[in-house]
Amino acid sequence: MKILKIDHLGIAVNSIDDGKNFWSDVLGLKFEGAETVETQKVTTAFFPVGESEVELLESTAPDGPVAKFIEKKGTGFQHVAFRVANIEEALQELKDKGIQLIDQQPRIGAGGAKIAFLHPKATGGVLVELCERS
Ligand code: ZN
Repeated sequence: MKILKIDHLGIAVNSIDDGKNFWSDVLGLKFEGAETVETQKVTTAFFPVGESEVELLESTAPDGPVAKFIEKKGTGFQHVAFRVANIEEALQELKDKGIQLIDQQPRIGAGGAKIAFLHPKATGGVLVELCERS
Protein backbone atom coordinates (compact mmCIF):
# COMPACT_ATOMS: atom_id res chain seq x y z
CA MET A 1 0.00 0.00 0.00
CA LYS A 2 1.20 3.49 -0.73
CA ILE A 3 0.40 6.11 1.91
CA LEU A 4 0.81 9.57 0.41
CA LYS A 5 0.40 11.81 3.45
CA ILE A 6 -1.66 12.53 6.56
CA ASP A 7 -4.85 13.72 4.89
CA HIS A 8 -6.50 15.05 8.02
CA LEU A 9 -6.91 14.73 11.78
CA GLY A 10 -10.47 14.16 12.96
CA ILE A 11 -11.60 15.92 16.14
CA ALA A 12 -14.93 15.20 17.83
CA VAL A 13 -16.78 18.30 19.02
CA ASN A 14 -20.16 18.95 20.60
CA SER A 15 -20.71 21.83 18.22
CA ILE A 16 -18.86 22.95 15.12
CA ASP A 17 -19.88 26.52 15.87
CA ASP A 18 -18.14 26.33 19.25
CA GLY A 19 -15.18 24.45 17.73
CA LYS A 20 -14.70 27.22 15.21
CA ASN A 21 -14.02 29.64 18.07
CA PHE A 22 -10.67 27.96 18.70
CA TRP A 23 -9.64 26.46 15.35
CA SER A 24 -10.68 29.40 13.21
CA ASP A 25 -10.93 32.50 15.40
CA VAL A 26 -7.95 31.78 17.68
CA LEU A 27 -5.62 29.75 15.42
CA GLY A 28 -6.67 31.54 12.26
CA LEU A 29 -7.34 28.41 10.19
CA LYS A 30 -9.65 29.02 7.27
CA PHE A 31 -13.16 27.62 7.71
CA GLU A 32 -14.27 26.21 4.38
CA GLY A 33 -17.87 25.38 5.23
CA ALA A 34 -19.62 22.40 6.81
CA GLU A 35 -21.07 19.30 5.18
CA THR A 36 -23.52 16.75 6.60
CA VAL A 37 -22.99 13.08 5.77
CA GLU A 38 -26.42 11.63 6.57
CA THR A 39 -25.36 7.98 6.40
CA GLN A 40 -22.81 8.62 9.19
CA LYS A 41 -25.06 10.98 11.19
CA VAL A 42 -22.31 13.56 11.25
CA THR A 43 -21.64 17.12 10.17
CA THR A 44 -18.01 17.79 9.29
CA ALA A 45 -16.03 20.97 8.80
CA PHE A 46 -12.56 21.06 7.24
CA PHE A 47 -9.80 23.55 8.00
CA PRO A 48 -6.79 23.28 5.67
CA VAL A 49 -3.35 23.31 7.34
CA GLY A 50 -0.55 23.14 4.78
CA GLU A 51 -0.73 19.75 3.07
CA SER A 52 -3.24 18.40 5.59
CA GLU A 53 -6.48 19.45 7.22
CA VAL A 54 -8.21 19.48 10.57
CA GLU A 55 -11.69 17.91 10.44
CA LEU A 56 -14.23 18.78 13.13
CA LEU A 57 -16.99 16.21 13.59
CA GLU A 58 -20.35 17.00 15.19
CA SER A 59 -22.96 14.26 15.57
CA THR A 60 -26.40 14.88 14.08
CA ALA A 61 -28.06 12.14 16.19
CA PRO A 62 -27.55 10.70 19.70
CA ASP A 63 -26.94 7.21 18.24
CA GLY A 64 -24.37 8.31 15.63
CA PRO A 65 -20.77 7.04 15.78
CA VAL A 66 -19.40 10.44 16.83
CA ALA A 67 -21.99 10.81 19.61
CA LYS A 68 -21.06 7.34 20.86
CA PHE A 69 -17.36 8.20 20.73
CA ILE A 70 -17.92 11.36 22.80
CA GLU A 71 -20.06 9.42 25.27
CA LYS A 72 -17.21 6.94 25.81
CA LYS A 73 -14.10 9.11 25.51
CA GLY A 74 -15.20 12.73 25.56
CA THR A 75 -14.55 15.37 22.94
CA GLY A 76 -11.15 15.75 21.31
CA PHE A 77 -8.86 13.81 18.99
CA GLN A 78 -10.86 11.05 17.25
CA HIS A 79 -9.04 9.69 14.20
CA VAL A 80 -6.07 10.08 11.88
CA ALA A 81 -6.71 9.78 8.15
CA PHE A 82 -4.04 8.68 5.70
CA ARG A 83 -4.38 9.48 2.02
CA VAL A 84 -3.67 6.37 -0.05
CA ALA A 85 -3.13 6.03 -3.78
CA ASN A 86 -5.58 3.11 -4.14
CA ILE A 87 -7.99 2.37 -1.29
CA GLU A 88 -9.31 -0.96 -2.66
CA GLU A 89 -5.74 -2.23 -2.92
CA ALA A 90 -4.90 -0.95 0.58
CA LEU A 91 -7.96 -2.68 2.13
CA GLN A 92 -7.14 -5.94 0.39
CA GLU A 93 -3.58 -5.78 1.67
CA LEU A 94 -4.81 -5.17 5.23
CA LYS A 95 -7.32 -8.05 4.97
CA ASP A 96 -4.52 -10.31 3.75
CA LYS A 97 -2.51 -9.29 6.81
CA GLY A 98 -5.46 -10.17 9.06
CA ILE A 99 -6.15 -6.59 10.17
CA GLN A 100 -9.65 -6.03 11.56
CA LEU A 101 -11.56 -3.46 9.52
CA ILE A 102 -14.69 -1.46 10.34
CA ASP A 103 -15.39 -0.95 6.63
CA GLN A 104 -14.80 -3.98 4.42
CA GLN A 105 -15.46 -1.83 1.35
CA PRO A 106 -14.80 1.88 0.80
CA ARG A 107 -17.74 4.22 1.22
CA ILE A 108 -18.23 7.84 0.25
CA GLY A 109 -17.35 10.39 2.92
CA ALA A 110 -17.27 14.18 3.08
CA GLY A 111 -16.08 15.89 -0.06
CA GLY A 112 -16.84 12.78 -2.13
CA ALA A 113 -13.70 10.99 -0.92
CA LYS A 114 -13.59 7.19 -0.77
CA ILE A 115 -12.99 6.31 2.88
CA ALA A 116 -12.69 3.25 5.13
CA PHE A 117 -11.92 2.85 8.83
CA LEU A 118 -9.65 0.29 10.48
CA HIS A 119 -10.72 -1.11 13.83
CA PRO A 120 -8.90 0.48 16.81
CA LYS A 121 -8.38 -3.02 18.22
CA ALA A 122 -6.04 -3.68 15.30
CA THR A 123 -4.06 -0.45 15.63
CA GLY A 124 -3.20 -0.19 19.30
CA GLY A 125 -6.20 1.97 20.10
CA VAL A 126 -6.07 4.61 17.36
CA LEU A 127 -8.99 4.97 14.98
CA VAL A 128 -7.35 5.03 11.53
CA GLU A 129 -9.10 6.15 8.37
CA LEU A 130 -7.87 5.56 4.86
CA CYS A 131 -9.01 7.94 2.16
CA GLU A 132 -8.58 8.30 -1.55
CA ARG A 133 -9.44 11.50 -3.34
CA SER A 134 -9.46 11.91 -7.08
ZN1 ZN B 1 -12.02 11.77 8.67
